[in-house]
This record gives sequence, structure tokens and C-alpha cells, in this order.
Amino acid sequence: MNSSKKQQQVRYCRNCGQKIIGYRDEDGMLRLKCPRCNAVSVSRKVTRRHEDVQEYAPPGQVII
Ligand SMILES: [Zn+2]
Repeated sequence: MNSSKKQQQVRYCRNCGQKIIGYRDEDGMLRLKCPRCNAVSVSRKVTRRHEDVQEYAPPGQVII
């Protein structure tokens, strides 16, 4: 089992500041949905020093 490789990822919602905890999948993708405002953050690990993050505002809202 390689579940021990799964490292807990802690982020803060860019939209409202809510603390969100998630895990990367096998492809290194981290998908987080804020439980408070429903904003979505998709993070892809490119290299050890480079993380590609995409932020999506909640439906009907715009990025603050
Ligand atoms: Zn939020």
C-alpha cells in the first residue's frame, strides 16, 4: 500500500479564508472545494518547486 505517501495538504480559501484540508490523487492533482463559499481550487504539482494553481470562484460570483 502506498497510502502513506498521501500527504495531507492544508490550504486556505482564496475567496473567504476558510481552512481546507485535502489530499493529492495519484496524478499529483489536488482538488479542493471550500465548504463555506463553494470556491474550487485545483492544484497541480509541476516540479518540487513549482505548483500550478487554478482558482475558480463560486457559481454566480467573481474572484475577489
Ligand atoms: Zn471559501
